[in-house]
Amino acid sequence: MERYSRQVLFSPIGEEGQAQISQKHVLIVGVGALGSVSAELLTRAGIGKLTIVDRDYVDVTNLQRQLLYSEQDVKEKLPKAIAAKRRLQAINQDVMIEAHVIDAFDPQLVSILEQGVDVMIDGTDNFETRFYINDLAVKYNIPWIYGSCVSSFGVSFPIIPNETPCFRCLINHLPSYQMTCDTVGIISPTVQMVASYQTAEALKILVGAKEIRNSVVVFDLWKNDHHFLKAGKLKNAQCPTCGEHRTYPALQEKSSADVLCGRDTVQIRHSEPFHLAKMVQQMKASGHHVQYNDYLIITELEGYRTVLFKDGRMLIHGTKDMLKARSLYQKYFA
Ligand SMILES: [Zn+2]
Repeated sequence: MERYSRQVLFSPIGEEGQAQISQKHVLIVGVGALGSVSAELLTRAGIGKLTIVDRDYVDVTNLQRQLLYSEQDVKEKLPKAIAAKRRLQAINQDVMIEAHVIDAFDPQLVSILEQGVDVMIDGTDNFETRFYINDLAVKYNIPWIYGSCVSSFGVSFPIIPNETPCFRCLINHLPSYQMTCDTVGIISPTVQMVASYQTAEALKILVGAKEIRNSVVVFDLWKNDHHFLKAGKLKNAQCPTCGEHRTYPALQEKSSADVLCGRDTVQIRHSEPFHLAKMVQQMKASGHHVQYNDYLIITELEGYRTVLFKDGRMLIHGTKDMLKARSLYQKYFA
């Protein structure tokens, strides 16, 4: 097809590689900064199917680096997965795009994996979710591509179950700044660079290339530093995820509330989906000011901006205090 002629001319892909790409399914977990870029690159590359999962909605502070979103999405308070799908489909209508407004711990993620996923791409912003994805990837034998960035630092590594070390094996060897939540800001080129590394490895895996990188790339765009750490020897035979005795610790029980990384926000999970239309009626009747769309309701409870999603999650902004957040939840929704 003419559309992909430049990619087909690139000989490591060629006609055959293009045909493969058009048959493959990629799952992107998180379509914030990193996920936005890899989703767009894969959509333009003509991936067969793209599934995107994200738990958040578009905020004005995202626009500086999250390339898929516009001021209109901010105005409409659209969930990122929905806004991303709209934009991606406008770029390439031939790609089958499935969008889920859920967090990674939702059981639906496992159902998606069970349908068959060729590669998973890390678009998350926290280590708890990455450990969870890592366990799932090894358990279901699906390659996944770790990527992380903060300020002008970036790191990426492709994890191939049963071949490379897994994320848990690597974690103690990664630079320590990666352990902290992002509170120091970021410049957009850092994101594009990490996502480009991730997408390049994804394309290699999708076409069965031999050149898959077996090293961790680490760079600092501001300080002009760029290097590769050999990863092969970092595999830990005792690793509880990819070692001889696998217990997949991150797949064990998940708490019903957590503080979102680097943000003044607590997320609480209700035991069942929220009936949004009914709740809008009730909240209006009790005098609350509400903004809403088909996916979420935004209101203010005792001075805290609160967002309720259809899948039963609740975000309480302006606090890191789980007890406070739980008590608001108990009072209004339990
Ligand atoms: Zn491991």
